[in-house]
Amino acid sequence: MELPLEPYRTKVVERIRLVSRDERLALLKRAGYNLFWIPSDATYIDLLTDSGTSAMSDTQWAAMIKGDEAYACSSSFVDFEATIHSIFGYKHVIPTHQGRAAEDLFFGVALRPGDVVPNNTHFDTTRANVESKGAVALDCVIDEGLRPDCPHPFKGNMSLAKLEAALAQYGRERVPLVMLTITNNSGGGQPASLENIRSVSDFCRQRGVPLIFDACRFAENAFFIREREPGQGNRSIQEIAQEIFSLGDGCTMSAKKDALVNIGGFLCLNRDDWAEAVTNQLILTEGFPTYGGLAGRDLAAIAQGLREVLDLEYLRYRIGQVAYLGELLQNKGVPILQPVGGHAVYIDAKAMLPHIAPECFPGQALTAALYLEAGIRAVEIGSLMFGRDDAVTGRFVPAPLELVRLAVPRRVYSLAQLAYVAEACGRIAAAKSRLRGLEIEFAPPVLRHFRARLRPVGGGDLFAA
Ligand SMILES: *Cc1c(COP(=O)(O)O)cnc(C)c1O
Repeated sequence: MELPLEPYRTKVVERIRLVSRDERLALLKRAGYNLFWIPSDATYIDLLTDSGTSAMSDTQWAAMIKGDEAYACSSSFVDFEATIHSIFGYKHVIPTHQGRAAEDLFFGVALRPGDVVPNNTHFDTTRANVESKGAVALDCVIDEGLRPDCPHPFKGNMSLAKLEAALAQYGRERVPLVMLTITNNSGGGQPASLENIRSVSDFCRQRGVPLIFDACRFAENAFFIREREPGQGNRSIQEIAQEIFSLGDGCTMSAKKDALVNIGGFLCLNRDDWAEAVTNQLILTEGFPTYGGLAGRDLAAIAQGLREVLDLEYLRYRIGQVAYLGELLQNKGVPILQPVGGHAVYIDAKAMLPHIAPECFPGQALTAALYLEAGIRAVEIGSLMFGRDDAVTGRFVPAPLELVRLAVPRRVYSLAQLAYVAEACGRIAAAKSRLRGLEIEFAPPVLRHFRARLRPVGGGDLFAA
């Protein structure tokens, strides 16, 4: 196994604690076995998300001190805009307070009720923002991207056949734009190949349909292209990213991912009429066009983060660390989705816990066990999140997959800490026959996973004696 060496040493540390098992049990009960309600300071290793959880560099912190807080035309905006131009190359750069604000502003201008937006796979907020405008969010990822055990190197690719079928079915007039999410977050952080992006771009340009990237993890996607795609191994990450973006007409971006900051986002567009209409709306809801809901210091940290994320040694360590966690888990006999994506390892809870039926939430039971046994916080992506009761029969309809996502924050945890996570998962795998399922005590009608309260089936302990 190749060691993903850190191109960093530590300058500032943050104390974390593993509280006692008794305390963890009490907190778990108080939280209704729902990890979203566990206090952060009682969490030893927090793998809930990679969004907004990055550690900033000394250079980013220095840039924050020097942030220009002028209301209009601050030098921090000038740096932000120039840095984004140098990578993304689009004409208009519009700052927003995070990715979903860019989505809301853009779709508010570009979509009409009844429109259809194809994407490889829409991320939840993207889908919700498309649907909130009365439009249809259509997923067109290749079939391999839907099969958890399929080893395809670019499972985030768009299916040209599905895209063509969508345009034939709905007509060009109802498809105002096509989106491509790199890497494909909801598909497990899987990349799209440069060849696929070129084909999608050709397809769109022949029909005059703008192609817009959901660019949250563009540098991680570019790294996978460099590693896996023939002929790309000698190019820089910046060159690959520049080519990707030259194939489209704009992007939405959550800076909480590949800009290595804790908050922020932006929208880039080539089309003047779209940018004009978005900017008018931006002033109403986000702020003046040169800060868009962010402080000058936030713009400065994003600009510096975007320069740092292109560093090949950083990306080799980053992607290597996630792959390393995946390999350790496999060595412990923990079943995971293949291949490991860019930002997270997904445990296949259905395969790991076959004795827990989907209606007893095997993924959620595993997240509860990880916290109880080791103070680790992960997130269920399974029947608690996506299962539902059929409106007619009232019968439980499970999610297609029962997963537990271990998202790895950027530049935050050491290899020893990741080994500790794998160790804990291995211990639970060894005692899995004693782990019991969960039942719902309370669930709100929408997005129930955030606020649901659960308990071990029939009451009693999470692990049978
Ligand atoms: C996080 C994310 C978003 C939304 O960004 P926020 O900053 O959380 O609003 C959109 N698309 C993808 C692919 C994401 O991962």
